[in-house]
Amino acid sequence: MLVCPRCAELLDDLEHGVFLCERCEGLWIATPALAQLDDLAWTVGEGVWWRNEIACPACAADARGTIMTARMAAGVVVDECPEHGAWFDHGELARLIHSSGSDLDALRARLAIAAPTPEAVATRRARHRALAETRRAAAVTYHRAVADETEQRRSARVHEVEAEARRTNEAAAAAARAARDAATHQLHQLEAELEVYRARLAAAERLVAAHTLEIARARAALEG
Ligand SMILES: [Zn+2]
Ligand SMILES: [Zn+2]
Repeated sequence: MLVCPRCAELLDDLEHGVFLCERCEGLWIATPALAQLDDLAWTVGEGVWWRNEIACPACAADARGTIMTARMAAGVVVDECPEHGAWFDHGELARLIHSSGSDLDALRARLAIAAPTPEAVATRRARHRALAETRRAAAVTYHRAVADETEQRRSARVHEVEAEARRTNEAAAAAARAARDAATHQLHQLEAELEVYRARLAAAERLVAAHTLEIARARAALEG
């Protein structure tokens, strides 16, 4: 599988060493196919240092990061890997060979084998559909995993909040119990004090009654 060095889209294998990016319409042509386009003399073009560097898709498929050599030929910049082939951005190939048609038309005019048969096109489309389906399934699996994780985090948070609320309620209930206990204790103390005052009052009243009686007796003795 080769990937477009411009937009990272999977390249469409047109067979015979020609690959097309469906998104940016760039073309990758492998060295053996290039050899059949020997009238395209871009390899003698001038090197262009200012060009945005791009990596060779074949090297990338091998996990190597080979930056291609950019050359200017006939007003077109071509990126070439000395080992694997060359990359043509959309329109570059047609301009290079002064064709008014598309890159693929230009290529087919020179490289008869690059013209795909209907069977090859059908096979390629089926392969693309299968690949798209695999990607779609992978995306669905991924989204489901993300959704599951989100749900797990959400319910963990809910449990956390519930536990926190429970702890808060328990603390409030304990505080209310303590306040009630303190109030009850104070009430009992006041009741005990009241009992003491009542007893003192009763004793004083008995004393007053005894003195009153004594005074009455003394008066009666004086007058008698
Ligand atoms: Zn592309
Ligand atoms: Zn390469």
